[in-house]
Amino acid sequence: MSEPLPAVVLAAHEKYVSHIMLCADCYAPKKRHCPTGLILRIEYDAQFLMTITDLRWRRILLLRESDQNPANADGLKARVIELYNEGLEKAQ
Ligand SMILES: [Zn+2]
Repeated sequence: MSEPLPAVVLAAHEKYVSHIMLCADCYAPKKRHCPTGLILRIEYDAQFLMTITDLRWRRILLLRESDQNPANADGLKARVIELYNEGLEKAQ
């Protein structure tokens, strides 16, 4: 049985979905996002990636996601690094 997703991931997903359902400029099946939609998508992907505790596996998924969505790549990588560093600070 898989672990339930943390509240922070569900909240990010909810915000993303709520936005794309109402936004005329976002079209998820074609991975087309307005600037706001892109930020929300990156936040959701980043929060989801942070749930993966195997760092090697997390890196593989990050690279795969960046490959599939070049428009998100830099923003996603930056956000994952930011969340990772926040985690390190909390652990100290
Ligand atoms: Zn949008």
